Amino acid sequence: SHDRVINFGAGPSALPVPVLEEAAKGLLNFSGTGIGIAEISHRSKEFTECINNLESLIRTQLGVPHTHSILFSQGGGSGQFSAVVMNMLARYRLLHPDVKPEKITMDYVVTGSWSKKAAEEARRLGGGQVNIAVNSREFSKDGKSFDNIPAHDAFKFSRDPALIYYCENETVDGVEFSHELSEPTSFPFHLLKQGSLAPLAADYSSSFMCRPIPRLADHAIIYAGAQKNIGPAGLTVIIVRQDCIVDVDAAAKLGAAPVPITFSYKTLEESKSLYNTPSVISIYMTALVLELMKEKGGLAYYEDLNRRKAGRIYGLLKDGEEKGVFKRKVKAGSESWMNVVFEVLGDDAEKRFLEGAEHLGMKGLKGHRSVGGVRVSLYNAITDEDTEKLAQYMRDFITQEV
Ligand code: PMP
Repeated sequence: SHDRVINFGAGPSALPVPVLEEAAKGLLNFSGTGIGIAEISHRSKEFTECINNLESLIRTQLGVPHTHSILFSQGGGSGQFSAVVMNMLARYRLLHPDVKPEKITMDYVVTGSWSKKAAEEARRLGGGQVNIAVNSREFSKDGKSFDNIPAHDAFKFSRDPALIYYCENETVDGVEFSHELSEPTSFPFHLLKQGSLAPLAADYSSSFMCRPIPRLADHAIIYAGAQKNIGPAGLTVIIVRQDCIVDVDAAAKLGAAPVPITFSYKTLEESKSLYNTPSVISIYMTALVLELMKEKGGLAYYEDLNRRKAGRIYGLLKDGEEKGVFKRKVKAGSESWMNVVFEVLGDDAEKRFLEGAEHLGMKGLKGHRSVGGVRVSLYNAITDEDTEKLAQYMRDFITQEV
């Protein structure tokens, strides 16, 4: 693996080398079966053990309570933009059979491009009104960028929404809620109706298992595509509170939109996520990653590691900003641990920065096409050493430029 570079890409992203080496063996012979992991039946005893093990690795490390099921599906984060709406509208219909669609609200917290997309999908599907509970662009430095998490008093939730939606970490914009609930940029859990089962759904696609999830038990749904922190693309992890696993066909009889069978949480729950063929290889590799995470010390270890990595890069950005070399895009307190987004100032400087990095074996640093600049993704597989290599390069770059 000496010819590998450091991959700071935003997703699919770097995976730990020991996992890749183990998976290479599994590709030829999975768990002593003599059959490779890409070839084996998803109903085999060995694979059943693997998927059950994955469930329990997630449950233990994240501390998922038994009020919540852990489901596996395909379709990615984008598939869940739709599934969340359809399942939660079905639930609302069963709870309130007589409320007309134009009276049903779904609250969307918009803090970046992904939550904006999720809100657009809800609007497209219909069946309820989309209320933008807050739009962080209104609070940005220039009036149009997703560069902040707004203050708690800016959030306006509806009285009895079918769904409240937020994206914990905005991968493109580099904006993230703080996981310290005492911070002003945390999610305003205290504004949700107390004592009720809040219909709170969170997209954790790019921050899943990088640190503990605050108020996990108070969520109705948490989901994430595996392809950033924990595995290859093709696997979507969905944590669902059991009151949100509803009979979508009964809801359809009462007027809710029919839900495609593979998108129904009830289908996934009843089939133990094996209604149809899952992404066998992604499930296998994700289990390998989580085994390694467990060995290293679980989320406490990764929380420390990720805090350190982000601190190091943001520290250098501050330094570079004072010297007129770099410019941070995101307001203080709203910065993502996972995706650090910034500009390199000066003619052609960004190009020079990216080329210089690539020359030293660091790739995947170009910002998303919609925002430009540089984006450093610091997912779990990026080590202290990898981060230090980039930090040293940034230090040298600052010295050269001033
Ligand atoms: N939400 C977030 C926060 C994401 O980063 C992404 C993908 N980058 C998605 C949703 C969409 O995920 P997928 O490509 O798995 O559909």
